[in-house]
Parts: sequence; structure tokens; C-alpha cells
Amino acid sequence: MKKLIGPFKQIITLRGIPLKGPIGDDQLEIISDGGLLIENGSILQIGAFSKFEGKFEVEEIKSDLVLLPGLIDSHTHMCWGGTRAEDYALRISGATYQEILKRGGGIHESVRKTRKSTPEELTNSLRGRAMRHAREGVTTVEIKSGYGLNVQDEIKMLEVIASIGEQLPINIISTCLAAHVRSKEFEDNRTYLDFIVNSLFPDLKSRKLTNRVDIFVEENAFNVEDSKYYLSQARKAGFELTVHADQFSTSGSRLAVEMGALSADHLESTAAKEIKLLSASNTVGTVLPGASIGLGMQFAPARKLLDAGACVAIASDWNPGSAPMGDLLVQAALIGAYEKLSTAETFAGITFRAAKALGLSDRGTLESGKLADLIAFEVSDYREILWHQGKLKPCLVWKEGNLIEND
Ligand SMILES: [Zn+2]
Repeated sequence: MKKLIGPFKQIITLRGIPLKGPIGDDQLEIISDGGLLIENGSILQIGAFSKFEGKFEVEEIKSDLVLLPGLIDSHTHMCWGGTRAEDYALRISGATYQEILKRGGGIHESVRKTRKSTPEELTNSLRGRAMRHAREGVTTVEIKSGYGLNVQDEIKMLEVIASIGEQLPINIISTCLAAHVRSKEFEDNRTYLDFIVNSLFPDLKSRKLTNRVDIFVEENAFNVEDSKYYLSQARKAGFELTVHADQFSTSGSRLAVEMGALSADHLESTAAKEIKLLSASNTVGTVLPGASIGLGMQFAPARKLLDAGACVAIASDWNPGSAPMGDLLVQAALIGAYEKLSTAETFAGITFRAAKALGLSDRGTLESGKLADLIAFEVSDYREILWHQGKLKPCLVWKEGNLIEND
């Protein structure tokens, strides 16, 4: 059954824009008084509302709204147990991320609390966060494991993530991040990584729990040599790859490119050499402003990456330690202001360029054949959206053509 939605004051389609490189706002296609013809959750046609009017059932929009594609958050750790308020208090008093990690806080604290949580407890807290994301316009979200660090608890996390994907009206893409940091039960990194490869990967595959694998490449996590070994094993087992790269030191992004990873994420320490490598590759550079804000450190060089020709996505990194805010639009607006990104570049980073980071080609722009994942803002000019610096949230959100109830 076909359905017409509109009229919208402006539809910002984001179609026809290259996947890589800088974008000027003058490259944005704006359809004034536009409408969308939807069938079976996808966009059939898009154009002037008057062109379709009178021929189809109408979901009428009665006020001035600007329509964008649903937001895509391509990097989060939203499934966790407990809080990390104590860490945060230490950090804002001056302790560094690395110091907190060394004294057994940091990720290890979330591991302890997540292992202790029942699946029901994890499901309830994740459901709340995921619904908040949905109301704030995120219609596709990636969620990583990585606070289990053993077979049982990594699987517990991935099952919880999958169950939320079935319960909620948004798409969830899961990723195994068992290589977040070495589990304390293991003496050395290589033994731990071998354990994951041999004991966890086969289960993930046979139970179809995820087809993506991530690793934290960093001095206090996994070095380049071990990471390369691990990613090769993951690739051999048929997983898509993504990498936590260049957060505190460089080399992760080089490895991500070399291994053909879909994305290299973080990039706060990325410099000229890495920018060149990423720009020449098909690996998406995903910047995580929420982590920069949480750690009080510099933003990733999004401007330089774009100018060099890279594909830049922006994600929230929503996690209990370094990025507890979890507000994608606020964070995108802030990095845009600091890094001098055009509105078009910021919108691209949280829509179709984020889709590429997840290997998804069926969403992120508004054009025929794409999913009808839509968000509408109560403004009459698209530039007002970022002018509110992320504080203005969409008033209506559709997932595959159906309105998400704002309960
Ligand atoms: Zn992360």
C-alpha cells in the first residue's frame, strides 16, 4: 500500500553527494514543499508534494517542518552494567584516562559490573538508552560488546543487543569488541587474543550473533603486531573489520587501512601521514567528539581529513567511561563548530557517510529505493537545526515509514 507523507517545508535529500571529501552547503539538494511516496518501508518517489497530491493516501504534515534522513550512529558501547561516575569524578579532578586504566578502573570497572548484571538488567538499561536515541532521531545504531571479555559474558552482551534490536523499532548493528582490553584472567595479550579466536569466534558465527569484529589498538590495550594477527584471524573467519585507532598514539589507522577495515574510529592523534593514508583508502574515518569532550582532549582533525579527501563519519561513542552523554546531534554540532565543518559535512557524517562505515548502502539519503527512515524538525530552514547546537531534537521520527511513538 502506497502512502504519501508531506508537505514538508524543506526536504534535505543528501543525494548526489560524493562519499568522500569536502562538501559545500550549495551541494545540498533542497526540495521545497516536498513529499515522499512510501511503499513497504522504502521510498518510492520523492518530489514536489503537489505532484503526488490527490492520488494516494496521505499522512499530512500540518506545520512547517524540515526533513532529513534518519541519523546513523556508527560507533557506540551502549550496553553496559553499573555506572562510572567515580572514574568521571577522578578524571575531571585531573587523573588521565591511562592512569585510571592502570589502577584497575576504566574499562575493568565496567567489565566487573557488566559481568555481574543479569541479561534482564542489561536489557532494561540498554532499552532505555536505545529508545532515547530513537526519539532523538537515531534510526540505525551500532552497539559493541567488550565489557564481558570472556565467552559467556561477551555472548550475554551480544544476545542482549540482538534482543533489543528485535524489540525496538530501530536497526541495531552489533560488533564483537572482546579485544577491548585484555581480560585480567590472562597473562599476555597474544594468549588472550588466541582464546577469543578459538573459543568465541566459532560461537559468534554459528549463532549469527554478529558479523563485525573490532579491536582497540593502543599501547595499553593491543599493539600493532598483535592487532594485525587478530584482525587477520577475524578476516579469515569471515568477519567485517573496524578498529579503534589513533586515540592516544598513531598506528591504528595505518593498520585499519592495511587490513581493509570498514572504518578507523577515534583519530584524535591522527597526523599528516595518517590523514594521507586514510584519504587514499576506502576506510571511513570516524570521529568521536563525545570522547574528546569526556576526556577533555582535542577533537579529531575532521577538517583536514575532509580536505585531504577522506570519508568522515561522526559517531557518539556512547559509553560509560569517556563518553557518557550519548547525544549524537549535540556532539556533531560541537565538532562542526570547532573543526569548521559545513552543515552539509556534518549532516553527511551522521547519515550516509556513517552508513558506509557500517557497510550499509540502503539508507542515509532520501531517494527512491532507500529506506524511509526520516526525521523532521520544527523549523523552516535546515540551517536552524545546527544553529540550535543539537539541543533542538526532531519532533517526528519514522523508521521504515512508520512513526516511532514518542512515549
Ligand atoms: Zn569506542
